[in-house]
Amino acid sequence: MGAGDLWLRDGRVSGSAAPADIVVRDGRIETVGVAPASWEGPTVDARGHLVLPGLVDGHAHVDKTLWGLPWRPHSAGAGLAALIENERTGRRGLPPVSERAAALFETYSANGTTLIRTHVDVDLDNGVSAVEEVLDAAAQFRDRLDVEVVAFPQSGMLIAPGTADLLDAAVEAGAALVGGIDPAGLDGDAIAHLDVVFGIADRRGCGVDVHLHDRGTLGRWQVGLIVERTRALGLQGRVTVSHAFCLCDGDPAVAPLLERLAEQRITLATVASGSAEPLPLARIAELGIAVCLGQDGVRDLWSPWGDADMLSRAAQLAWRAGFRRDDDIALCVEIASSRGAAALGVVDQVVAPGGRGDLVLIDAGSPAEAAVAHPPRSLVIKRGVPVSGALAVG
Ligand SMILES: [Zn+2]
Repeated sequence: MGAGDLWLRDGRVSGSAAPADIVVRDGRIETVGVAPASWEGPTVDARGHLVLPGLVDGHAHVDKTLWGLPWRPHSAGAGLAALIENERTGRRGLPPVSERAAALFETYSANGTTLIRTHVDVDLDNGVSAVEEVLDAAAQFRDRLDVEVVAFPQSGMLIAPGTADLLDAAVEAGAALVGGIDPAGLDGDAIAHLDVVFGIADRRGCGVDVHLHDRGTLGRWQVGLIVERTRALGLQGRVTVSHAFCLCDGDPAVAPLLERLAEQRITLATVASGSAEPLPLARIAELGIAVCLGQDGVRDLWSPWGDADMLSRAAQLAWRAGFRRDDDIALCVEIASSRGAAALGVVDQVVAPGGRGDLVLIDAGSPAEAAVAHPPRSLVIKRGVPVSGALAVG
């Protein structure tokens, strides 16, 4: 027996009425529903609690957080430019990024999160220092969280000359993906912006994740540009469009665009925003388009919202979508766990033999109840090792 071996007795696996044993060996699920013949390693009596795959935040901004600091009333004026300026002045004098990100990672982990994709600002003021600091904080949490970083040009790229080279340097420094932001609406030249972003991905072999708030025809035109570049560069399964409000308005042009996204295996990230209609989740699931869910910023200079709890965000997604039925709400929990992981390229975040031993236990009878009530997590397990929670490990 070694680290990463765990016998979980009497857990409740989604969809089954009777409690089942789960055996994790060397960090990976070996069996579900079969008690081991003999066992000398750590054991947990799960007391019938629900066992879900580790939760996933597919769209975070941990470098921006004020988590752990005194409450700060929102101070920005209206509009994107005012928000960006408010942050650039407001972040001076804050504790280091690594400290604030670590405080947030602590809460994410306690809430059952085992995988996070975070966008991290790269700009002319700070260069790639925030990327380096988030990577440092992530290294401290490597036994509890997998963290991947997107080099994110928050303040624009073409409108801030020099930023493109910094994005490239950030990928060299360890960012797993290169980001973009409103190539037309903020940066003023969608084709040039996306050519730089996809050029870095092509050269560096990294993924792409583009923030796209631009709505309507302008937004959908840019989704088409992203589809075309993904196809041309063979980046299927490596590209994400975040927010994609232009796919949320029910316009007839959305349906064929969703089919093109499915063909190129482009994934979508949503944060269940209050400022746009939800994505058409049922159609997206039918087409097999991978979707992840994120907190976006948590308690930062952009917004006071967020709690680093992906079950409460799954509830928000279901609530925004008008869902009431258990199976619809369960889809949102999957988007916050197994489906969200798959959107990030992690296809084995499942409670099944061969799955990662990344698990979260919740005192709830079903995923729908877990989302609606989101009680404190009773045990969080990373690679077969319990890392937090009140359930006793024997
Ligand atoms: Zn974002």
